[in-house]
Amino acid sequence: MPMPTSDGDQSRLNERRPPPIGRLRSSVVRFFRSSRTWIDLGVLAPIGMLVLSAIMLLDLRRDAWDKAERTSKNLLQVIERDIARNVEIIDLSLQAAISNLKSPGVAEADPALRQLVLFDRATTARDMGVMLIVNENGDSIIDSNAVPARSLNNADRGYFQIHKARADLGLHISPPVTSRLLGVPVIVLSRRIDKPDGSFGGVVQASLRLSYFSNLVDQIALGQEGGINLYLSDGTRLMRYPAGPSDVGANLAETPTFKRYLAERSGSFTGVSVRDGIERYYAFTQVGDLPLILNVSLGTREIVAEWQAKATVIGLAMLVLCGLTVSLSLLLGRELGRRATMQAELAKLARTDNLTGLANRRHFEEAFEQASRASARTGRPLSLLVIDADHFKNYNDRFGHAIGDAVLRGLADALRLSARRPNDLAARVGGEEFAILLPETDREGALQVAAAIHRATAALTLPSAGIEPGSVSVSIGLAVSSAGRAAAELYRRADAALYEAKSGGRNQTQCAPNEASLHVPERASARLATS
Ligand code: GH3
Ligand code: MG
Ligand code: MG
Repeated sequence: MPMPTSDGDQSRLNERRPPPIGRLRSSVVRFFRSSRTWIDLGVLAPIGMLVLSAIMLLDLRRDAWDKAERTSKNLLQVIERDIARNVEIIDLSLQAAISNLKSPGVAEADPALRQLVLFDRATTARDMGVMLIVNENGDSIIDSNAVPARSLNNADRGYFQIHKARADLGLHISPPVTSRLLGVPVIVLSRRIDKPDGSFGGVVQASLRLSYFSNLVDQIALGQEGGINLYLSDGTRLMRYPAGPSDVGANLAETPTFKRYLAERSGSFTGVSVRDGIERYYAFTQVGDLPLILNVSLGTREIVAEWQAKATVIGLAMLVLCGLTVSLSLLLGRELGRRATMQAELAKLARTDNLTGLANRRHFEEAFEQASRASARTGRPLSLLVIDADHFKNYNDRFGHAIGDAVLRGLADALRLSARRPNDLAARVGGEEFAILLPETDREGALQVAAAIHRATAALTLPSAGIEPGSVSVSIGLAVSSAGRAAAELYRRADAALYEAKSGGRNQTQCAPNEASLHVPERASARLATS
């Protein structure tokens, strides 16, 4: 059972333990010298860098999309306001003409004066073509640009027929037609004129050149794949920018995107165009309360193109840097590992006797010092055997130095075989002199080990040199420590016992007298048989 530690031992232990800051520093140094640390850092740091750059790149991508969304919504708003305002001005002119027509005296007035009264506001609308008043038969009776009105019949026009059929239509916007008076593509905005009895009295109409729309959006940069479209709510396209050959007049009422425009009034989505198969981001809105739908689209590929170029460069640079970091860390880790192995190897060599492979004298002294301290602390016995080959000089003289060496190696094997506990330590402490430390082993146990050594030595043979079993022998001095005695004292006692064994005829073990009975000299009596 371990004995309680004395105060003296405790304070010695405290002295040996490094102070907290020193401990911290040495564990930090150990951490940075460990090859594992560098390999772990070398893998973890690049993973961290990759995660961070992925987050950053995703953020940049979000920014590119935000910018596209803002751009298209702003554009949509500006164009929508312009169209709504222009149409409103034309509609006001149409309404004014109708109400002025009903004013007393206007119908009978001089045609030139009547034209002035009816169409005074018509010039303020941009790109407005001609304003006409058409009677119930479709004949032009008042013309904003000519007095008398140019001869013209519009009874075949869709807007004329629809106003004739329906009294409640209000403002009507026609699909694109070619103006009979101007010869250019226009849309016609019209309102019905009611006679005093409510029956159909004709139409007041104003043409708006389609060029108004294209002038409006001209110069807007939307990339190669972007576009602006204006539709009538029946699906007819009034304008596409940039213009294609058969873009204006086409009807898209049946396409899923157009149905979406009608259902949602305003919004945005990403979709693939039925026209060219290109994926675009679409922002759309109804123009005021008018039967017009406007959209602005941007190619998704172009939205992310700039980002993609950056992402490719940053991503590649990141991968190269991470690859380099990993490789360098692995190299560094491997190098540190190699150094650690080499150091361990060197340390082992520095503690090993190279002839026999046993612990050398230096190792033995350290271990002896430690074991003595442990024995002093715990009160457990520590036994020491000092072993010397008998008449060894003769082997060298008779068989030569090489055979002498071989015998020494054989002896080392015998010691190794005899002291087998994990804490036992066999060492070569001199030319043909060995020592075995047996911690926590009492005299009885040590005598058993000594007997085993004698047996194993006797069994040693070297047929090439004619060394037969029983030729080699050793003398052993044994001493067992008592608590508190210095290591040197134990060694001195074991050496004295060895001397006894030599002088007692060799090939035997002698025990140093018990320390407790040092004052009563007792002849060591354990003379052991060798087998
Ligand atoms: P004793 O029984 O009294 O110990 O006699 P001994 O001959 O063994 O004692 P001594 O101390 O006179 O001689 C030791 C010899 O051991 C001397 C030397 O030739 C030999 N020796 C010491 N180290 C080595 C070694 O490394 N290799 C060889 N081959 N011989 C060694
Ligand atoms: Mg000897
Ligand atoms: Mg000797």
